Amino acid sequence: MSVKVLKFGGSSLADAEHFRKVAAIVKSEPDRRYVVASAPGKRNSDDEKVTDMLYKCYELTREDQDIDNIFFCIKRRYDKIINDLGLDLSLDKEFQRIKMAILHHAGRDYIASRGEYLNAIVLANYLGFDFVDAEKGIFFCDDGTFDAEKTNSVLSKILEKHEYAVIPGFYGSMPNGTIKTFTRGGSDFTGSVVARAARADLYENWTDVSGFLMADPRLVKNPKVIETITYKELRELAYMGATVLHEDAIFPVRAAGIPINIKNTNRPADKGTMIVKETDIPASKDVITGIAGKKGFSTIILEKDMMNGELGFGRRVLDVLMNNRILFEHIPSSIDTLSVVVSTDDIKDKKLIVAEEIKKAVHPDYISIDDGIALIAVVGRDMVSSIGTAYRIFKGVAEAGVNIRMIDQGSSELNIIIGVEEKDYEAAIQGIYNEFVR
Ligand code: ADP
Ligand code: ASP
Ligand code: MG
Repeated sequence: MSVKVLKFGGSSLADAEHFRKVAAIVKSEPDRRYVVASAPGKRNSDDEKVTDMLYKCYELTREDQDIDNIFFCIKRRYDKIINDLGLDLSLDKEFQRIKMAILHHAGRDYIASRGEYLNAIVLANYLGFDFVDAEKGIFFCDDGTFDAEKTNSVLSKILEKHEYAVIPGFYGSMPNGTIKTFTRGGSDFTGSVVARAARADLYENWTDVSGFLMADPRLVKNPKVIETITYKELRELAYMGATVLHEDAIFPVRAAGIPINIKNTNRPADKGTMIVKETDIPASKDVITGIAGKKGFSTIILEKDMMNGELGFGRRVLDVLMNNRILFEHIPSSIDTLSVVVSTDDIKDKKLIVAEEIKKAVHPDYISIDDGIALIAVVGRDMVSSIGTAYRIFKGVAEAGVNIRMIDQGSSELNIIIGVEEKDYEAAIQGIYNEFVR
C-alpha cells in the first residue's frame, strides 16, 4: 500500500464544517495515513487565528495582565468544534494545565504550540486515528536549528507503530525538553518532515486555494493555477512572499524525492499544483511560472569614485552588516555605486550605527539608507532560454505607470527581481501579470 501524508492548514480546520470536509478527504483513500494539523485559523476575514490569540496570551502575562477573557475565547472555539461534531471528548483538563503553565510564565513557543496540540487531539478523536505528539518525534539542536537526522530516525520508528495517526504541526522539542516552534506557517514544514519519516509516496498540502497560483489572489483577480512547478521555483516564490507554502517546506521531501501536491479542502476534485524535481517536469506553456513579492525593504546606497578598483570594498560593507546581525537580500551594483537591499525590520533601529561603521570602513563619497522598497520576483525555469523576458517585465511595469528602482537577476537565471516603491507594489504585480498572462 502506498503512503500519503496530508497537512491541513488553519482555514481547513477552523470549524466543525471544515472538520467534516477534512474527514471526508482523509477517509476517501486508505493510504491517507498520516495527518498533520494546524491550529484553527480564521473562519471569516474578521476572525482571529488561535495562534495569534495564544501569542496575545503570552504578551498579556508578560505585562502582568489578566488572560481570563482571551483564554475563555480560545477554549470556546475548541468546545464549539467538539460540540458541533458531537464528540465524546473534553479538553477541560488540558486547558486547566495550559492555563497554569501560562500563569507560571511558560515560554512563548510553548504557548503558541498549544493551538496545534489541541486541534490535533480533536482531529485524532474525530477520525479515530492515534494522536502522536510532535514533541516526541521532532527535534531541534541546542543552537535552535532543526535536527533533521535525529528527527528522521526517531519519527520513522514512532510512525511504524501507528497505522493511522494525527500529528500536530508547527513545533518540536529542544534537547532539554522544552517546546520550540518553527517560524510562522511552520506546519507546512512539519508535514514535509513527517512525509520523509513515513517514506511517503506523496505529501498532500491541503489549504483554501486550488493550488499555487501565478500571483497572489489578493492582488490579481482569478490568477491561473500553476499545474506543475519545480522545488527550486517554489522556494523562490515562497521566499518572496507567496506564503501558501512555507519557504523551507520543500527541503525534507526534496531530499527524499517525494512530490508535494497542493490541494483545496473546499474543492477536493481540483487537481491543484504538483511540486516535483527539475527532471520530472514537462515543458511549461508559460514563459514565467509565477510572480511574488514583499514590502518592507530598505536600500543602503553607496557611491565612491573608482570604487571598482578598491579591493575588499564590498566585503568591508558586508562585514559591518554581519557585525550588526543584518542579513542582506541583494547587492545590485555598478562601477562606482553599490547598493545593498536589507529588511527594514532588521535595520530600522540600527541605521545610525550602520551608517557610521560603513563610513569608517570604506569612506564613501555618498551614503543613504532609504526605506519603502518592495521587491517583486518573477520566476520561471524557462526564462533562461526565452528571449525578451526582461523586456516584457519592464514593459508590463511601465504600462502600469510604475518606475523601477532596482533590478537584479538571480545567477541561476531562474528569476528576475525588481525593486519598486511600496506604493507601486500592487500596480507593478498586476502590470507584469497582464503582460505575461492576460
Ligand atoms: P493555510 O492556513 O492552509 O496554511 P495560508 O493562509 O498559509 O493557508 O496560505 C494560503 C493563502 O496564501 C491563500 O489563501 C492566499 O491568500 C495566499 N497566497 C499568497 N500568494 C499565493 C499564491 N501565489 N498562490 C496561492 N495562494 C497564495
Ligand atoms: N498556526 C501556526 C501559524 O499560524 C502554524 C501554521 O499554521 O502553519 O503560523
Ligand atoms: Mg500556511
